[in-house]
Amino acid sequence: MAAEVAAKAGLTVAIFEAMPDCGRKLLVAGQSGLNLTYALDHEAACARYGARASWIAAFLAAWSAEDTRAWADGLGVTSFVGTSGRVFPEAMKAAELRKRILDRLRTLGVSIHTRHRWQGWTEQGALGFDTPEGVCSHQAEAAVLALGGASWPETGSDGSWAHLLAARGVTMQPFVAANCGFDCDWSPAMQRFAGSPLKNVALRCGDAVSCGECVITATGIEGQALYALGAAPREALAADGHALLQVDLKRDLDHASIVTRLRTERGKRSLSDHLRRRLGLRGPSYSLLRECDPGIDWADAEALASFIKAVPVRLLRSRPIAEAISTAGGVAIEACEGLMLRAAPGVFVCGEMLDWDAPTGGFLLQACFSTGHAAGTQAHAWITRGATPCATPRTS
Ligand SMILES: Cc1cc2nc3c(=O)[nH]c(=O)nc-3n(C[C@H](O)[C@H](O)[C@H](O)COP(=O)(O)OP(=O)(O)OC[C@H]3O[C@@H](n4cnc5c(N)ncnc54)[C@H](O)[C@@H]3O)c2cc1C
Repeated sequence: MAAEVAAKAGLTVAIFEAMPDCGRKLLVAGQSGLNLTYALDHEAACARYGARASWIAAFLAAWSAEDTRAWADGLGVTSFVGTSGRVFPEAMKAAELRKRILDRLRTLGVSIHTRHRWQGWTEQGALGFDTPEGVCSHQAEAAVLALGGASWPETGSDGSWAHLLAARGVTMQPFVAANCGFDCDWSPAMQRFAGSPLKNVALRCGDAVSCGECVITATGIEGQALYALGAAPREALAADGHALLQVDLKRDLDHASIVTRLRTERGKRSLSDHLRRRLGLRGPSYSLLRECDPGIDWADAEALASFIKAVPVRLLRSRPIAEAISTAGGVAIEACEGLMLRAAPGVFVCGEMLDWDAPTGGFLLQACFSTGHAAGTQAHAWITRGATPCATPRTS
């Protein structure tokens, strides 16, 4: 996005990518249905960025979800609004979208140099790269870094650049897994349900609430409803060493209705059969009740109903960063003036490498597009103001 904006503004643009090809994470995102952006009003969308809501607002206002859809449309990728306001390409696969983006860039005269791993600045202040042919450097009037987060390192987004910016004096925040699963150290009985969904549940962690679907895994729990809780589980883990997730297994029924159903004549049926027939609690749901039983009296309908409405699941740790859909951490927002690094004038940053965080639902790519658009615009403004080359070495 940044390259397109800068090239359209008339700049000579070169892209340097560490991997043999560009946009591998876009391809990975496409494997689970490429959720390009969202259909939400501006304020509701900004709120999904939690503590970064006011920071992201200007970027989303300047390049909105509608702009992303129109841009994709211009590439021949029409989109539709799916469930929960998520926007997906109608037919196009991620590989085709990537091809069209790269074709457009080449048409705009952008040169693309793959197998070029940026390694910081040379002594003369040029951008330095490792390539299969050895090291090389490139003097630029402005640079946009779009190096990604640190999850799925096999896509090239491995966060290994962080020390280069830290050495330059850029304030960095440690990478942490976001939109990730959590370990619960299940018993073997619960592990049998690995891969089973818990559908139409409501989740609560501290003040954060969400609803939808999550999935039991061999080690714990993951899925969209969990990701929608945002930073809450992560922050509770950091503060207390564990996080309490409350799962409402019957979010469509209130407590009194559950009690009524539990009190219907059971005859000779077992309690598990009764729960299955009267409340549809079977398989993973029933097993979760057994697994997380804090010692309630199952014969007490009131107590059992309260338990079903808030099953306490103890989250012990996040899954490793490499498995996460995205990462928080990276370049501190305070390290930037606009999107330019205070410690490196003429160097702009965008996308997931910045320390913001949002749930799945198109909010990740949209923020990357919006900040990418702003970074390209700001780099162009920097050059047209006649500022000094981005790589000018610091004198102090
Ligand atoms: C499984 C999965 C599914 C996802 N699904 C969605 C989805 O449906 N919707 C959504 O909004 N988001 C989704 N995301 C998240 C989204 O893909 C990312 O947030 C987004 O791609 C980040 O874009 P970026 O440009 O900041 O970085 P990236 O796309 O990660 O690109 C960074 C690039 O920088 C290169 N690079 C890194 N270091 C160097 C270096 N030193 N020198 C040169 N090049 C370097 C990397 O090789 C990489 O190509 C998903 C992510 C995953 C893992």
